This record gives sequence, C-alpha cells and structure tokens, in this order.
Amino acid sequence: MEYYNQDTLIYLNTDFVQASSAGIDMFGQSLHYGYGAFEGLRAYSTHNGTRIFKAEEHFARLAKSCETIGLPFEWDNRTLIEKSYELLELNNLREAYIRPLVFSGSNMHLTSSNVANIMIAAWEWGPYLGQNLLRVNISKIERPNPKSFPTEAKVSGQYINSILATSDAIKNGFDEALLLDQDGFVAQASSENLFIEKDFKIYTPPLGNIFPGITRETVIEICKSLNFEIIEKRLTIKHIYEADSAFLSGTAAGIIGIKQIDNMIFSEDWEDSIGASIQRKYKNLVLEQENYEVII
Ligand code: PMP
Repeated sequence: MEYYNQDTLIYLNTDFVQASSAGIDMFGQSLHYGYGAFEGLRAYSTHNGTRIFKAEEHFARLAKSCETIGLPFEWDNRTLIEKSYELLELNNLREAYIRPLVFSGSNMHLTSSNVANIMIAAWEWGPYLGQNLLRVNISKIERPNPKSFPTEAKVSGQYINSILATSDAIKNGFDEALLLDQDGFVAQASSENLFIEKDFKIYTPPLGNIFPGITRETVIEICKSLNFEIIEKRLTIKHIYEADSAFLSGTAAGIIGIKQIDNMIFSEDWEDSIGASIQRKYKNLVLEQENYEVII
C-alpha cells in the first residue's frame, strides 16, 4: 500500500510541505518511546461536497489525548479542521482517511515534553477490514490495564498492543482480534469497538476499560433514534459465544459484521440482524443522505 508519492502534501505545524521531504527527528521522543497522540478521521464524498464526519469530536479527542499525557496542544481546532479540508483539496482527495499526529521533539528523557509538533496526512483508504463479514479470535493478548496507561487516550505507544493482537489473529487465520480487559471481560477489538445482538437487544461494553470510540457513540445514537434497545454492560466470553450476531465499529473499519468468533459461527444471517440496519443507517449518516433507510 502506497500512502504517498512525490506530489503528496502534508500539513506540518504551519505549512503544507511535501510528504517525501518532511524529514524525521532521529532523537524524537515520539519515535523512541511512542510518546505521541493521533487521530483517525474520514472524509466522505456527499451530495454536500466532501465532508469530514464528526471532525470537531475527533480534534477535541486529540486535544484531550495530548492533555492526558502532558503533550502541549497549542492549536485551534477550528483552524486544524480548515487545514484538513485544504489538505484534501491540495491532494485532490474527495474521500480519504485523515491522520493528524502530535509528536514531541528531541528528548531522550522519560519526562513529558514542552515542545510539540502537529502533522496531518490524508490518503485514499477503503474500509480498513474490507467489506466481507469477519472471522475474529479471542486474543491471548489483553488490553492494557487503565491503571497503568490512559487507555481512553489515543496514544501512539498503546498501538503496540493492537499490532501484537492483530498480527497474532492473522497468523492464526483470523481477520481481527477481540481483547479481554484486565478482569477477563471482552473489551473490544484491536482498533474497533464491539457490539453484540441477543434477543433483539444490542449490548456493548461500558466505558472504563475500552477506548471511547466516536463510531461507538454514533452507533448508540443510531440505536436510540431507531428505537433499538442498547445496553452498556460488561460482556463475558460466554455472552459473546451465545449472541445472535455481532459487529465492530470504528472510523477506519466503519460498521462491519462478524460471522465467526473462534470456532463459533453465528446462526443469524447478518442481513437479518439489527447490526445490518445500523450499518445502513451509519452509511446514510456519513454520506448525509437523510432518507436512506426509506429509499432502500
Ligand atoms: N479502539 C481503538 C483502540 C481505536 O484505536 C479506535 C480507532 N480510533 C477505535 C476503538 C474506534 O474509535 P473511533 O470509532 O473513534 O474511530
């Protein structure tokens, strides 16, 4: 996968610069220790033009992630959103994944930095986990303990945990991993939140030991608007195995159904599930097509 070429521009601190000549600080604290914070947004080509979905929420979360780890965040989010739209235009992108990254400067100490930079890149990226129903495993790798790491912040170093879990899942013939929390409850996937359907109700793990996904929040809003009962509750492996259907949510992956967890295949047809209705409504929302549910 090629993320950039000679013509690609990124936004770096105050200017648009060529991605290929942006350079990297070999003594950067982010590079050595994973001390950085980032976001993942998506821009969709809608009948209102290119629109970044929930841009304010994503940049607010970026500021919060930086604050949580003591990384200076001195930018105005409205300007960053404007720069993101400008970046899409400069790179001729109508639909894209957008990646802002806040990273520190040279610092080999294990103390928080007082200098930070921001980089925003964008590239065309199809649904992160593809379009097919997923096969996922319950990973032997657990989510980081919130007492040792601010798991609600989107912090670079945390993704080693995700890389290990997803790589292990793929090595074992699955598409993605589900991770348990420190108490043995099913928390979420490597970079998506989890929902299950049981007896016409939707369940998802509560905030606390999970990453607070913006898509997760959107799914909860959709459930309320469509009058589907949504319950936030800690879920055991047994709950997952005995569910009627399940799906994952995330900006990169969108809403994607799961057909199999470990050796267990869900009996309900995805197309008949509540998750499939939520998936349609989500597409409708991001594309700003208000009457999508009625049209199909
Ligand atoms: N969990 C983790 C660990 C993530 O990195 C992400 C993606 N940012 C999500 C869940 C989904 O979050 P969102 O819906 O905000 O993209």
